[in-house]
Amino acid sequence: MADFDTPELKEYPEIPPVTVGTMAHSRPFVAAPGHQEPLGFPGELVENWQDVALAKMGDLLGTYRSLPVFLDSCVKCGACTDKCHYFLGTSDPKNMPVARQDLLRKVYRRYFTISGKYFPKLVGAVDLTKEVLDDWYGYYHQCSQCRRCSVFCPYGIDTAEISMAAREIMDSVGEGQKYCNEIIGKVFKIGNNLGLPEPALADTLEGLEEDVEDETGVKVRYPLDEEGADVLLVTPSADFFAEPHVDGLIGYGKVLHQAGISWTLSSHASEAANFGLFIGSYENMRRVALRIRKAALDLGVKRIVFGECGHAWRVAYSFLNTLAGPFDFLDPRYPVPQHIIEVTHDLIKRGALTLDKSANDDRRVTLHDSCNIARASRMGSVPGGQFILPREVIKACCSHFFDMSPDTIHENTFCCGGGGGLLTDDLIELRVKGAMPRMQALNEVIEKHDVTHMAAICAICKSQFSKVLPYYGFTMDQVVSVHQLAGDAIVLGEKQ
Ligand code: SF4
Ligand code: SF4
Repeated sequence: MADFDTPELKEYPEIPPVTVGTMAHSRPFVAAPGHQEPLGFPGELVENWQDVALAKMGDLLGTYRSLPVFLDSCVKCGACTDKCHYFLGTSDPKNMPVARQDLLRKVYRRYFTISGKYFPKLVGAVDLTKEVLDDWYGYYHQCSQCRRCSVFCPYGIDTAEISMAAREIMDSVGEGQKYCNEIIGKVFKIGNNLGLPEPALADTLEGLEEDVEDETGVKVRYPLDEEGADVLLVTPSADFFAEPHVDGLIGYGKVLHQAGISWTLSSHASEAANFGLFIGSYENMRRVALRIRKAALDLGVKRIVFGECGHAWRVAYSFLNTLAGPFDFLDPRYPVPQHIIEVTHDLIKRGALTLDKSANDDRRVTLHDSCNIARASRMGSVPGGQFILPREVIKACCSHFFDMSPDTIHENTFCCGGGGGLLTDDLIELRVKGAMPRMQALNEVIEKHDVTHMAAICAICKSQFSKVLPYYGFTMDQVVSVHQLAGDAIVLGEKQ
């Protein structure tokens, strides 16, 4: 385990005393030229970086109306200060959302407002120096863009958008983050975040079919690049091999098999994740999204369904049509796109699946609402469907379900601590500390209801929890996929 103290879980959640600069050392690895250039960014910090950064900031202020509104409207009421999991877990005041915003706001004021140009000290405006850029790099990579702070801000100021703008400016001057940019490059080159080529993918899926057949006696298919299938399933590449993700993929396959829906994965679009969102780059987000359009056209599918991935669903639900549409070649009777939870939920409601809850009787389950699903998208046709549908699917598959404390679920949910492009080992201290509020809530529900497992519908959340649960005395297998529960409960074979 790394060299830092894991926060202590308290009997009741506490707001920590402020400790200035305690996370000033936290910086993810900087991207090398080989990671930057395929994305259209300079390979390293350009000579006239201040001019380039300010020009980019000017562009963004003109392009996104929300950005100047957010930068102008904060009244320093303080309502957001104790709402960020990274502040609660690290006690560094620069992890208070308003302070994080101020890192950019001070520079904005200096160069883009009259008062800041002529009376900088009076309005807290500062020059864009290398020290400021370093602070941006450190603290805008301590924001998982989870939007929790915006729920509590009376003006709805969204720190996530400010953080995305800051990262976009840093990329434009050649100061990108290795983890995100390397991954986006792999998607462009190979088709997924893991760099898993088509033959390896085909092998994995074949092995999965054999495993499921050995275990159930039923030949459930996990097809790849099958032209003419009805559904293109786009899922995070973690689903192809890592626990508990792969158990979710097994579950999707069982549901689709049992419902008689023909489906396929695509080697060209073998990744639902879209890290273009995290770096705030519309162009890179679009390039990733266009792969899905191409795969859908090439395979001639009628529907596009997304697997369990939080930010992928945010991009899909909120932006896919703008980025890669129109999708008028798909079957208009289905929403574009659909979430696998919506598909399974609908099948359950229509009585199309037989579920044996007793298969999950050894599990007492809670649900972690993934932030990008909770606060940036929806599911189904009712308000709050993104909270209702996953819970109804779990309850149809398990007899024992218990929610965590209301101030930590639904739109108030805490980020897992690894979202927004921070799921990298060079940020492990931040990840462990940022997970504290979720671990606190999990601990409470364990003590109160003997909960044994926490389900999630996001690949990043599952990976993050697998890693950080042991730091808090839990075990990594306590996190499960929602479709793992469905896959275990489903009765295969003739409908009973
Ligand atoms: S968006 Fe989330 S991570 Fe970023 S400052 Fe707000 S609460 Fe913290
Ligand atoms: S809650 Fe909103 S207005 Fe209040 S300090 Fe935070 S960002 Fe500013």
